[in-house]
Amino acid sequence: MGKKINRRQALGILGASIATVAGIGVWNRPKIIDFLDRDVEKQENSEENTVVTRLYPSNGQQLSLLGFGGMRFPTRMTASGKEIDEELAGKMIDYAYRHGVNYYDTAYFYHEGKSEAFMGKILKKYPRDSFYLCDKMPTPILTGLEQAKKIFQGQLDACQVEYFDNYLLHSLTTREQFEQLYIQDGILDYLRSEKAAGRIRCLGFSFHGDVPFFNYLMDTFSWDCVMIQLNYADWNDEGEAPEGSRQAGTLYRKAMEKGVPIFVMEPVKGGNLAILPESASKILKAARPNDSEASWALRYVGSLPGIVTMLSGMSSIEQVIDNIHTMADFQPLDDREKQVLARSMGKGTETAQVHCTYCRYCDPCPYGVDIARIFHVYNAQAVRLGIATDTASDTDKKEFIIRYKNEVRRAGRAGHCIGCNTCLSRCPQHIAIPQEIRKIDAMVRKTAADTGKVVI
Ligand code: SF4
Ligand code: SF4
Repeated sequence: MGKKINRRQALGILGASIATVAGIGVWNRPKIIDFLDRDVEKQENSEENTVVTRLYPSNGQQLSLLGFGGMRFPTRMTASGKEIDEELAGKMIDYAYRHGVNYYDTAYFYHEGKSEAFMGKILKKYPRDSFYLCDKMPTPILTGLEQAKKIFQGQLDACQVEYFDNYLLHSLTTREQFEQLYIQDGILDYLRSEKAAGRIRCLGFSFHGDVPFFNYLMDTFSWDCVMIQLNYADWNDEGEAPEGSRQAGTLYRKAMEKGVPIFVMEPVKGGNLAILPESASKILKAARPNDSEASWALRYVGSLPGIVTMLSGMSSIEQVIDNIHTMADFQPLDDREKQVLARSMGKGTETAQVHCTYCRYCDPCPYGVDIARIFHVYNAQAVRLGIATDTASDTDKKEFIIRYKNEVRRAGRAGHCIGCNTCLSRCPQHIAIPQEIRKIDAMVRKTAADTGKVVI
């Protein structure tokens, strides 16, 4: 079991200018790079601050309880548009690797198709048997078997590997789509043949559908693993009916009943559980003053038996440090802490937020609306400051308008939505995007008017 370093020391070296909200704010880049470079020397031959592992019964290996998701790397604006900040993201992966993270997850869609090649480039310098790589068949864009074969070969090439440790049918949503593509078109049989050939070690699926579809998949087929969305806000207890995304408990119990090893996505709900309203945050801080809100979310998931690895799509070095700190010498939530978390949830965390996980599957909006960013600013600022509930002070209203204007570029703001509904079917969280965007637009305009500002 790994040992902890002092989190304040680790973060303090980066200076106060680093934003605490994922990927948003001022980056003191040279200091971050310097910190990461110095960690190479420090961590060499040391097992300190190393994340705990769990047995993956399907391959008999020990996987890190924390996995690195390749969906939300830091980005930079370049002449050709937004690109992965390869220097910084690469050093973040290296830091995670040095601290015991051995599970890496990418997908065809992530970073507009660039995540796989980037992940492959960074991991190539490490022995292939020292890390576990997961990729996924992009279900939403599949048209048939021949295309699936080309995509699979292209993914191996992009990642520069001979095999995937886990390979998932990505984002299964409806039984009709699954049966058409994977059964009638033969893509599931094809993937099984790749498993027999050794180019896939373990085969499973990631899921965004409803409970009857999940039960059908679990009862009808044999899987090496399953990836579900699980976090404390999406959990439903035994006897509590599933509702919207709040079905994680039902899916978890079914997978456990079938003995299928569970991988978890969105343990922090796309970062939303790291940016709680102040009233909820205060309760957690009173119980564990030095711990982040995200650490509560990770510990909740890690406390459940049967979870092999939870993915975090880390987009800043402070997230990487914080998550690794939580996962080194991992402590499950005790009964008192579970009660603290329940009290914090009673402060309206879930009801106020839009349940966007920042996956960006809704992009691009034909009218340029930056949907994910708008929801993020709403969750991180409007909910936190009380703008969403119309309880904010004038000072907080002014702060919100400044944040909104800084963080959502003019062409991407909510007022540009014309309600065309193109985005609607793309959202795995089933968010009524146009309605939510309209509500936020009205809230922004009212707040701006209250403070004598104008937001176009
Ligand atoms: S409904 Fe609005 S946000 Fe969605 S695609 Fe259309 S214009 Fe863009
Ligand atoms: S609105 Fe839906 S599709 Fe778009 S980023 Fe959020 S969760 Fe993803």
